[in-house]
Amino acid sequence: MNPKRPVEVRLAIAALAFLVAVVAVLGTWQVLAARSSQRSEIEAGEVSAAHLASSALGSALASRLDLLSNLADNASLSSIFKQKPAEQAKIAVTLHLIYPGFASFDVIDANGRLGARWPAEPAVVGKDVSSQPFFANVMHSGKAYISQAMQQNTAPKELVTLLAAPVRDTSGRIVGILAASIPGSSLASLIGGTMLRDGGALVVFDQFGHAFTGPGASASKSFSSLPGVASALAGRTGAETGTVPGYSGQRLVGYAPVASTGWVVLVEEPSSVLSGPIDALTERLAAIGLAVAFLAAGIVALVASLLRKLIRERERVGALMASVGEGVATIDMDGIVQLTNPAMDALTGWPSSGLVGKKWAEALDLYDQHGNLIPWQESIAAQAANQGHVVATTGYGLHLARADGQRLPVAMTAAPLRAGNDLLGAVMVLRDVSREREVDQLKSSLVSTVSHELRTPLTMVQGFSELLLSRQDLGEKRSREALEQIHASAQRLGRLIDDLLSVSRIDSGKLRVDLAAVDVRGVVHEVVKVAGSQTEGGLAQGALFADRLVVEVEPGLPAVIADRDKLVQVVMNLVSNALKYSPPGAPVRIVAQRKRDHAEISVIDQGFGMTEVECAQVFEKFTRADRPEVRKVSGTGLGLYITKSLVEMQHGQVWVHSEPGNGSVFALSLPLSPEPEKGEVFALQGTKEPH
Ligand code: ADP
Repeated sequence: MNPKRPVEVRLAIAALAFLVAVVAVLGTWQVLAARSSQRSEIEAGEVSAAHLASSALGSALASRLDLLSNLADNASLSSIFKQKPAEQAKIAVTLHLIYPGFASFDVIDANGRLGARWPAEPAVVGKDVSSQPFFANVMHSGKAYISQAMQQNTAPKELVTLLAAPVRDTSGRIVGILAASIPGSSLASLIGGTMLRDGGALVVFDQFGHAFTGPGASASKSFSSLPGVASALAGRTGAETGTVPGYSGQRLVGYAPVASTGWVVLVEEPSSVLSGPIDALTERLAAIGLAVAFLAAGIVALVASLLRKLIRERERVGALMASVGEGVATIDMDGIVQLTNPAMDALTGWPSSGLVGKKWAEALDLYDQHGNLIPWQESIAAQAANQGHVVATTGYGLHLARADGQRLPVAMTAAPLRAGNDLLGAVMVLRDVSREREVDQLKSSLVSTVSHELRTPLTMVQGFSELLLSRQDLGEKRSREALEQIHASAQRLGRLIDDLLSVSRIDSGKLRVDLAAVDVRGVVHEVVKVAGSQTEGGLAQGALFADRLVVEVEPGLPAVIADRDKLVQVVMNLVSNALKYSPPGAPVRIVAQRKRDHAEISVIDQGFGMTEVECAQVFEKFTRADRPEVRKVSGTGLGLYITKSLVEMQHGQVWVHSEPGNGSVFALSLPLSPEPEKGEVFALQGTKEPH
């Protein structure tokens, strides 16, 4: 069997093979049982045939013996022995004429001298037969006697049995014996013939086991030790298998003793009669078995192909369920979970085995927006299953308690599951909406942050422009200060709009980088030049930032692969943050050095620093540390998000080390550009600064 076959197919084949084996065993058992019952039937038939034949023979012989006894008992017969042999012969002739059932009659006197025989046999007349068993037997017992098989002296030298009865005078003394013979052939006719159908025969044996009939007939050879003969001689009736004189091979023998004679009747048949019908039955059963086996093979093939189809269908459904990214589960009309997909297991934190077979309401704890457990009757799963229409939740109110206890905002759609017109249950689709909720919250915070950040500089612009418009008497100095404030606010508005545009371009994937070999020193100098030219608070009289900036670029630092403008923007952002979130006058170091196959640019300040939690969040959108020293500095929480996105687009990394009160180190690394071949002219992209 193909080991790759699915277990169901193998089981079906095994079950059918088992069925065929059972049919085979039952068939064999049936054959054996039939064989045994057939045998008993045939044996019983043999026994009753033997019994019938023996009864028929027994009563025929008994009636002839009675007849002979009655003849011998005739008083007139006793005088015969006083007469001459010729007279004695006349008696024998007369008897033979009257009773043709006997083959011959003998008249024997009390001394054993055979006085007459008819049909005439002169050679035996006058002979002494006193030594013959029948003579002694009759003379001593005084009763009629049936002799063993005896062979005639004259032709046709047939086997005969002699029936002998005492002849008494008027005083009751035995004066002689009247004997009459019955040939073996007549014995056979007494029992209606000896030939049976199927090559069987009836065989008659005398009291010494001599066969009277059949091919083994002999007066001299005894078969008293043969199975059947021996048993019947011992007075038993039954059936056996063995050999029979004159018949070839093994024979089935039914035997019975012949009452009052001590003889035996055998009914014998070739033992093939036992197996013949059974063999035919076996052949029929084998043919049926073969047909059943073919049928079973056909059924196996059919069932296997159906199972394969079913399995493939199930696998398709399974693959479909597995490929759905949202949690899917089906329930029956009683609310029992039938099926879950891997996404559902991942969402709930329960393995499939933890949900399937349980009631939906008990398997999953779902809470409403007030934190109350939703009872089954009110769940949308129950509504879909009971009312037969699609139901879905809205908003972020529904919460799922996961296996680990965590509560997730989820959205759920429940649809009725139908087969034709029958409602089978419902299918539930569960979706984690935490990200959507976050985005929703982000949008709200964007709107509020952006509105606030727009409002502040706009208020400044409005306030100072109104001041300029309404007050003609402002001196030149005050007027200039107002204009500077308006200018700084306009710049702040511009930066905010630039940041928002950058974020939108990053998020929509529209921002592209143009990578080339870039000289880090040039970038750092450009940043220092721009940042350094600004003043604290953006005011004309403020101290220049340039005084606070310290640049340390490793001599001979190779170029990096980057987009120069984006790199300037990144370093500028880090430097301006370092200046913003440090006390006035605190130095900010910009260090650029080689680290294996990367260049690392670090911006190190001695500012307010950040907690570990703040450090973990600073690169996310709209994230600002929630403390006074940060709040009083204007900002959107977008700069570091843009920075990180830009660095990663240039295949670099950015990270921060910081502690509250101990300043911060923001660092980024970018891959070095391959060294130019000797003599090759290597143009650095957009190098604007002298080295
Ligand atoms: P913004 O500066 O506009 O607030 P950023 O994304 O540049 O936005 O910075 C996010 C937050 O990270 C800042 O609000 C501040 O709380 C913190 N931060 C950034 N740079 C520093 C720094 N050098 N020292 C301390 N805090 C910093």
